[in-house]
Amino acid sequence: MTNLSTRLTKIVGDRTAQVLEKSFGVATINELLRHYPRRYVVRGELTDISTLVAEDEVTILAQIEAVKLRRANGKNILEVVVTDGSANLSLTFFNQAWREKDLKAGRVGLFAGKVGVFKGRRQLSHPDYQLIPDGEDVDAAVAEFAGKYLPVYPATAKLPSWKIMQCMRLALDTQDDLPDYLPTEIIQEFKYPTLKKAFTDIHQPPDLDSAENARTRLTFDEALLLQLLLGQRRIQISQLSTKSRTPNTPKLVAAFEKKLPFKYTAGQMVVNEQIEKDLSNKFPMHRLLQGEVGSGKTVVALRAMLSVVDSGGQAALLAPTEVLAQQHYRTITKLLGDLAMAGTLEGSEIGTAVELLTGSLSTAEKKVIHAKLASGQTGIVIGTHALISDGVEFDDLGLVVVDEQHRFGVEQRDALRMKAKQPPHLLVMTATPIPRTVAMTVFGDLDISTLKELPSGRAAITTHVIPVLEKPHYLDRAWQRVKEEVAKGFQVYIVAPRIENPNKKLTEREILAAQLLGEEFLDNEVMVAVEELAPELASGALAGLKIAVLHGKQSSEVKDQTMSAFAAGQIQVLVATTVIEVGVDVPNASMMVIMDADRFGVSQLHQLRGRVGRGSAPGLCLLVSGAPEDSPSMQRLSAVAATLDGFVLARIDLEQRKEGDVLGRSQSGGRSHLRLLKVLRDENLIDQARTVSVKLLQDDPELINLPDLKNEVEKLKEDESARFMDKS
Ligand code: ADP
Ligand code: MG
Repeated sequence: MTNLSTRLTKIVGDRTAQVLEKSFGVATINELLRHYPRRYVVRGELTDISTLVAEDEVTILAQIEAVKLRRANGKNILEVVVTDGSANLSLTFFNQAWREKDLKAGRVGLFAGKVGVFKGRRQLSHPDYQLIPDGEDVDAAVAEFAGKYLPVYPATAKLPSWKIMQCMRLALDTQDDLPDYLPTEIIQEFKYPTLKKAFTDIHQPPDLDSAENARTRLTFDEALLLQLLLGQRRIQISQLSTKSRTPNTPKLVAAFEKKLPFKYTAGQMVVNEQIEKDLSNKFPMHRLLQGEVGSGKTVVALRAMLSVVDSGGQAALLAPTEVLAQQHYRTITKLLGDLAMAGTLEGSEIGTAVELLTGSLSTAEKKVIHAKLASGQTGIVIGTHALISDGVEFDDLGLVVVDEQHRFGVEQRDALRMKAKQPPHLLVMTATPIPRTVAMTVFGDLDISTLKELPSGRAAITTHVIPVLEKPHYLDRAWQRVKEEVAKGFQVYIVAPRIENPNKKLTEREILAAQLLGEEFLDNEVMVAVEELAPELASGALAGLKIAVLHGKQSSEVKDQTMSAFAAGQIQVLVATTVIEVGVDVPNASMMVIMDADRFGVSQLHQLRGRVGRGSAPGLCLLVSGAPEDSPSMQRLSAVAATLDGFVLARIDLEQRKEGDVLGRSQSGGRSHLRLLKVLRDENLIDQARTVSVKLLQDDPELINLPDLKNEVEKLKEDESARFMDKS
């Protein structure tokens, strides 16, 4: 007896099974049946030998006429002549004399390979073949083997598509009474084929409509299993118990709000309320806060942290980089003033201690902070991955805020949450707008809050593209604008893709050659580099201005000093890499020039320009690019210039990336249960699956009455990729 989990070694040869596993990670019947065709080719009759064209990939049905083994140039050459009645064709095998046993004159088989020409004669060298067993009805065998629509599989040289097709047939043959894990009502409601029919129709379609229906059903399955998994996870989270973090008297929150130099936006008030409600629950909050750069997420997060401190707990803010952690620390201590200085002379009585914990602290400094965290003296700690290190213990960690979640692995986030005695509340902040379907899939187990509007009084950002290839003089004008901006008392960022160019010594001729040779030399291509641009501007176009550089290779001390000096207005022009991409907040910066802008992704550009226009002065962003005016690169830049809507840009970005990237880096490498589902294309199916899963789980959260379906969800859960998708 076989079932879907039966290993392939039971039904195909060991060798084939080995190749399947090695090439595609396919080891069971189920995995094989989910190795879907990319497309189908319509097959008329099998190709006549007389019509073969050199270089074509063909499959022919023919009878062996003669077999000859000879030696030439120290090699055994097995030459097989076959005929299909229309003509002869020779097949050659080098050093595979053992095939002589199989390939006997008179036998009929299917032969597949690429048509080559040798000494003016067409031939197949090392063709794949399938001999039709003696005594079997040839017509029936061929009809079964070669239906009208031939699936084209992701294949390799060792395992060509038609061989995979054979394996499929073997696998399907074993699955006559394949049980369907989908409840009958759902199958009927959506008029889906059964699982058995779906597998059959996708691999051996009688017509293309059936193939399409099969594909839809199997795609729906993926969406549904994912939604069930996420739905169950949500239910599980709601069943965890933790401390409710409603303060008796929100002293800190009240004092903080009194200090705030502005009113919350309507959006911030809504989110504050959502979070307050979440924190009052006895199960952990699990919320994603998304909002444009500058939409005021940090303020919202800080309020939540203060609320937890008011209730007697501690809060930790995890930032992806040292620069960002420092930035948060500065912002937060500034907003809190004396409220952040508990334990010092200037400290307010109702305040708490706020600490910054990063890798660049000395061991002694870290120890002091560790002690204050363990005793509960520190209410709020901001840090990088140093927060996760072994020495860190909390007295009562009640809230974890993760900034820019996509830079953190789940493991890291979990490691921090493990430091709490009870599961802490979790708030994940992201400035990358997340399209709806991605939110429903990748982040489907999180509640989502969105800050749509920017705080009022914020001036708009204008973006222009500077096509230096066609209009080099525009660049001079750009530097002129930088000077004007500085003369008005504002500050300017200049962003470049490189720190320095590795191959400064290349001659112009070499660079040209590299460009002509194309892609593999792209890495060596010269791009605008911070360390080269800064001195050039300092002694040229921007002479006399206070210019500094900032990039990832600097020590964190230098970076911190530079950022502080820039924030204090002591630096007028900051030439930097994308280290300033996220979170950096200097309201007095009004202009940004992005060099080689086509080197950056759409969302990245949007993030970058969000650094300007944060004060009351209008922001100006110039995208400098040497790409030709009608190139796709230029079109992307124009799209960025045309809208400030992060959601529109996120979608453009998404369309240009591979699905694997959307669902997390980890998926692109390994196998995934999501083979068909595409978050952009399958919006309707995802909606449908969401609705169905909510209904199913409402009646039966454990899926006890649907054991087959439960089993499928369990399998997905176990799957490695599912673990990586866990954003909790
Ligand atoms: P984000 O974290 O979403 O990028 P921040 O919370 O850092 O945004 O806020 C960006 C800037 O706007 C900060 O200088 C902050 O003090 C300010 N800000 C936040 N909320 C408001 C508001 N409601 N009104 C005016 N300014 C605000
Ligand atoms: Mg921020």
